[in-house]
Amino acid sequence: MERDATSASTTEGDAMSNISALLEHNKAFASSGTWRKTPRLPFLPFKGLYIITCVDPRVDPADFLGLEFGDAIVARTVGGRATDAVIFDLSYISYLVEAKAPEGPYFEAAVIHHTDCGSRLLEDPDLRHGFARRSGYDEQQLAALPATVPAETARADVAKILAAPQVSTKITVSGHVYDTASGLLETVAEPVRVP
Ligand SMILES: [Zn+2]
Repeated sequence: MERDATSASTTEGDAMSNISALLEHNKAFASSGTWRKTPRLPFLPFKGLYIITCVDPRVDPADFLGLEFGDAIVARTVGGRATDAVIFDLSYISYLVEAKAPEGPYFEAAVIHHTDCGSRLLEDPDLRHGFARRSGYDEQQLAALPATVPAETARADVAKILAAPQVSTKITVSGHVYDTASGLLETVAEPVRVP
């Protein structure tokens, strides 16, 4: 069956656009001019923060820390774990500061793990095995992912970043736990300079 170009681009298969309902908000944002108030350089966020946290929609630091436009760099992964990809990005962005704005200010990388994390479903051997079979990912690595005790995994990821030789020695790293039952954030590792 032939389709015209317009319908093919918008109604292919059964796909529906969830974002189209938000485009009015985007127009209001564009006309507000908020986007003009940018940091001096995009890798120097206003609040000096590079937050690493979970993809969970309840765990958005803009909500629980009151971050506004340009305030922080935010990296989100399953569990907020400091994966190799996170460390690559952190290395690159911290190098950009060294190379393009050596006077700083240098940012604090804040690792935030949380209670009731969906990464913990990987504690279930059946689910873990099923996902390993479905995806080809290494089952041992999957077993190490869950934020079972978020204070412990947050501290472990702070230690991992501090030990990564690629990361600039000018940044600091801290660890925190967000409690989804109270909305409160607790610091479990005070900021330490990369050695
Ligand atoms: Zn989570």
